[in-house]
Amino acid sequence: MAESYISNPDVGFIKEVSALGGQDVKKCYQCATCSVVCPISPDTKPFPRKEMIATSWGLKDRLIGSADIWLCHNCGDCSSKCPRDAKPGEVLSAVRAYAVAEYAPKMFKGLAKAVPDPKKLPLLLAIPTIIIIVMGLLSNIVGLGWFKLGNIAGGIWQHDFISNYLVDIIMVPTFTAAVVVFALSLKRFITDMHANALADNKTAKEKIDPAGFVQAIVRVIPTILKHQKFNECTDNRDRGTSHMMVLFSFIGLFIVTGSFFLAEWVFHIEGPYRQINPIKWLANVSGIALVIGSGLLIKNRMSRTDQIHTYWDWSLLWLVFGLGVTGMVTEMARLGGMMLLANVTYFLHLILIWALFAYTPFSKLAHLVYRVVAMAYAEFAERK
Ligand code: SF4
Ligand code: SF4
Repeated sequence: MAESYISNPDVGFIKEVSALGGQDVKKCYQCATCSVVCPISPDTKPFPRKEMIATSWGLKDRLIGSADIWLCHNCGDCSSKCPRDAKPGEVLSAVRAYAVAEYAPKMFKGLAKAVPDPKKLPLLLAIPTIIIIVMGLLSNIVGLGWFKLGNIAGGIWQHDFISNYLVDIIMVPTFTAAVVVFALSLKRFITDMHANALADNKTAKEKIDPAGFVQAIVRVIPTILKHQKFNECTDNRDRGTSHMMVLFSFIGLFIVTGSFFLAEWVFHIEGPYRQINPIKWLANVSGIALVIGSGLLIKNRMSRTDQIHTYWDWSLLWLVFGLGVTGMVTEMARLGGMMLLANVTYFLHLILIWALFAYTPFSKLAHLVYRVVAMAYAEFAERK
């Protein structure tokens, strides 16, 4: 007997996906060219044709909890070959943006909706600005003196203007909160992925075994670091190198931040650190790679006039570029003795770092985490 399926369309979902860049989904006439040309789609139950019809039918639950939307690397090969110009790559990207907001814990739903909204940008940037100023002034009131406004054009390094202790007591809880938000979101996401895979007969594994899942994460890491999947694509392969530069610069800067944090809090060695310090080299190389990599990604996106570019895409690129530029200008200005410039750019740099930590679980950068988890799940589940 044929299996019946009652569809329960969510009209609001279709509208939101359209607003996030998937407005051409209705043009699709299900020819399946996209699934055939996609170089990384699996042989069984391939994407993105099935996701196109699920989106146009508003089958939200079957989409956002599917690992397949994250296995797509948005290379654009399918969009350029689609005879209807339905832009399946962009539709999947919009579904992913929707999924990130959907998996945000309830108390953060408002923030998750605000991050992709350009009208909320001034408010989102005002939050860290106010936090830094208020916390700094409070530290002065209680006698810690971590915010020395009189030093804005003086001192020998940024710490003389905004103390590293002030920076740490603001950034560490923010980073920790982002990790907790990710953990809560991913718990629901993994449960949904597994339920969907079982319902679609994509896996024979009845349960998720945590140890097996962690092993799967370890197995997919080399593929991610080498950008192997992205490099199988043709249309946007040139983006692979700049992606890698940004990814490795983030890894480098993470090591640098952790090392300086240890130096300050455990070994009580305060900066500025000498330029011959190997961690400083890593910081400089990573900073340069971040500026060049994100600059190339911006250039590439600007040149692709045939693709849909949403605020969701642009905001991440400019944030990453801004982080790199403010970090490098701060250091160069300090070395050149221009302390007013160094301190102003440092203040901007701190605002962007806070924004990166606090808004990552709801921004396009969350892809990094969701995609790793989805790829690990596909590996663990031996996706059929
Ligand atoms: S998105 Fe385009 S290529 Fe894919 S099935 Fe629809 S019409 Fe065909
Ligand atoms: S954008 Fe690239 S990876 Fe994604 S479905 Fe299309 S061809 Fe496949």
